[in-house]
Amino acid sequence: MRYMPVPDYHMHTPRCKHAIGDVREYAAAAIAVGLKEIGMSDHSPMPDGFDAAWRMQRSELGEYLEEVEAVRDRFADKLTVRIGLEADFHPGTEDYVHELIASYPWDYIIGSVHHIRDWGFDNEEEISRWDGQDIEAAYCEYFGIVAQSARSGMFDIIGHPDLIKKFGHRPPADSRRVREAEEQMLQSVRESDCALEISSAGLRKPVAEVYPHGRIIARAAELGIPFAFGSDAHAPGQVGHAMADCLAMLVSCGVKEISAFESRQRTSHPIQQIG
Ligand code: ZN
Ligand code: FE
Ligand code: FE
Ligand code: ZN
Repeated sequence: MRYMPVPDYHMHTPRCKHAIGDVREYAAAAIAVGLKEIGMSDHSPMPDGFDAAWRMQRSELGEYLEEVEAVRDRFADKLTVRIGLEADFHPGTEDYVHELIASYPWDYIIGSVHHIRDWGFDNEEEISRWDGQDIEAAYCEYFGIVAQSARSGMFDIIGHPDLIKKFGHRPPADSRRVREAEEQMLQSVRESDCALEISSAGLRKPVAEVYPHGRIIARAAELGIPFAFGSDAHAPGQVGHAMADCLAMLVSCGVKEISAFESRQRTSHPIQQIG
């Protein structure tokens, strides 16, 4: 099945120290694969050296914005370029992130959970900390933090909503605790009127699955939660990665629309099959 392209709102720049390609190259790659709209969302600065090796510094924020604005203006007749950020949600840092968000007229902010307390659970360098973990407890704690991120009111899109599965660690399939934690997470997302990200990044990771799981997508669809697409590209060649697979999955789960953002206003657009 083929679909009209939808916006890809999740891509990075080398300022986060683990991506390659300048913004112009991401835009050119988007045009080459037929996209009409993208948004840059590099890893935001965080306070007090939090996870500093994996994000831009605050001193780099100005040039990030200048670079994206310049590409947006230069490509305006061929491609819509939105300006966003992937901010971490980490309890205790909310005041800083709130101030950062208020400091610029963003098109959208993705809120992502990459840490459980001091553990970067999706960081390859910290993968040994999975040894001996209570996987069920880790999932429950993770979904609890994601729920809290939604309720913080700071974010437009909840990033890769079951990132905890990245390396393939799985709780028991019949875990009621995990199902309840997922449900609470989705209820929080609905109450806070955030969109959920459907991310193709998981397909490129050991888990080899889209984020989030089809079960979560189907329940979100029942609850009327909107979706936004993100490839989480860390290289220009990943822009739009597996968009058609993600759209097919949304459609099969009963989702009919996809979200677009401008000046932190969300609009909904039909997912259109072609051919
Ligand atoms: Zn990253
Ligand atoms: Fe992320
Ligand atoms: Fe990302
Ligand atoms: Zn990400």
